[in-house]
Amino acid sequence: MTSSRPVVAIIGAGFCGTMMAVHLLRATSNTVYDVVLINRPTNASGKSSHSLARGLAYGTNSAEHLLNVPAGRMSAFDDAPNDFADFLNASGRSTSTNTFVERHRYGDYLQATLQAAVASAVRRSTGALLSIQYANVDDINRTFSGQYALQLNEGGAGVTTLHATVVVLALGNFLPSNPPLEDSTIYHCRKYVRDPWASGALEQVDLDQAVLMMGTGLTMYDVAMSLKRRATASGKPLRLLAVSRRGLIPQPHRASVDHTDFTDVPPDIFGSTSVRQDLQSIRRQIRRVEAHGGDWRDVMASLRPIAPARWQQLPDVERRRFLRHLRPYWDSHRHRAAPEAAAQINSMMKVGELIVRAANLVALTDQGDSVSVILRRRGQQDAEQESVGSVINCTGPSSGIDAEPLLWRLAAKGQLTADANGLGLGLLVTDHYRVIESNGAPSNGIFYVGPLLKAQYWEATAVPELRKHVEAAAEAVIQSLAPSDQ
Ligand SMILES: Cc1cc2nc3c(=O)[nH]c(=O)nc-3n(C[C@H](O)[C@H](O)[C@H](O)COP(=O)(O)OP(=O)(O)OC[C@H]3O[C@@H](n4cnc5c(N)ncnc54)[C@H](O)[C@@H]3O)c2cc1C
Repeated sequence: MTSSRPVVAIIGAGFCGTMMAVHLLRATSNTVYDVVLINRPTNASGKSSHSLARGLAYGTNSAEHLLNVPAGRMSAFDDAPNDFADFLNASGRSTSTNTFVERHRYGDYLQATLQAAVASAVRRSTGALLSIQYANVDDINRTFSGQYALQLNEGGAGVTTLHATVVVLALGNFLPSNPPLEDSTIYHCRKYVRDPWASGALEQVDLDQAVLMMGTGLTMYDVAMSLKRRATASGKPLRLLAVSRRGLIPQPHRASVDHTDFTDVPPDIFGSTSVRQDLQSIRRQIRRVEAHGGDWRDVMASLRPIAPARWQQLPDVERRRFLRHLRPYWDSHRHRAAPEAAAQINSMMKVGELIVRAANLVALTDQGDSVSVILRRRGQQDAEQESVGSVINCTGPSSGIDAEPLLWRLAAKGQLTADANGLGLGLLVTDHYRVIESNGAPSNGIFYVGPLLKAQYWEATAVPELRKHVEAAAEAVIQSLAPSDQ
């Protein structure tokens, strides 16, 4: 495919890729360009073209999978906070800004937002044109003319080449990585589910036996609730064992908060050089806020905007310390569950359908009819053994670039760089979202936006942060196409 106008190729049509297209289509700059939005024919959750504008998070059809952010904070536009709640109300799902709605409704919202942007661009004769391609982008090469040649793998339909002036990588969330085990043969066994979001993956799980879930965060909640629905429908008893190093589960959101007076943080809250002292400062702030009638969640919310600057100040050794010792506590307080989901998980725990254990997994061995699980509880010397029928990886999306072939191919050619010293959090980008090549130079035309910005900003996984990044990245892309920048 060739075009006389500059072409922006966006790879990935989850939240970030879709909203990148929306901003490019809505822009009223003098620069003209066309936009090609490319998404896998099937994504990790196994959905076909349906996954357009949904990605991994919003491609689920299960009613028990709720957003973990209230509707009033899920607008795709930073400057229109009620946009999502208004969409829900207009489409007949009566909602307050405090409601935690089904995730698939957010996919409906993104699709409608994209359609509206296309329609508005068509009405403006100079507007950008959007085309959509269903293909896996296997590789990207720089051509002699300075363009990018994208290798589009359309499965049975073969491989084609798309030429683009600028490429936006919006590849999103990757498959969970396999936790390290001395003998990892279990990972090749049919009783192991690596991708809990893959279509039909949980339908194959044998509910006649106990099920091991590796991980105790929000992915575990999704999986436990889906298995609960299956067990209820089939009248089978449920025996779920969820294991993580510390056994911490997501804290619940408050059911209803219209307003909080506790949005300010003391300017010196991160005045130290160590994450241990940060933790003490945060605890002090929580005590202060609670003494005035507030809640620890207000403090967590107030830290979100300043977390990126703090992350950037921290030396590598402190970042590692945070990831090793404090991250589980941060995650369980920061990535909270919808109150309804938390209530369901609680009642499953009360009746023994779900047991959560703080333990290290020592070994998983396929025994033919079952899997033997050897684990060592936190603080105990002796290991213990359990027997389960299936093992499900609930450790959540991975952000290491080796999880995605396109990224490691680009890294191997020096066209992008993973975060410093292998923290495994994502990619290095400039302040204007250009990826950084192995020689330290910003890429001419490859941009990145999505959860791998965590390497740079730490807080970059949920819509309230990503929507700002996408808008700023779209501006940077448009700027790069302006004649003076070419
Ligand atoms: C299960 C789950 C639930 C979540 N719930 C919430 C929530 O309630 N609220 C919230 O704010 N955040 C939530 N998040 C966080 C979520 O990461 C962001 O909200 C956002 O969806 C990320 O969007 P994305 O476009 O970066 O990634 P994704 O949604 O993962 O989309 C990336 C897309 O790129 C495609 N792709 C990847 N590689 C290629 C390739 N080589 N060629 C072609 N296509 C490719 C994929 O198929 C996919 O469709 C959730 C995350 C998960 C995993």
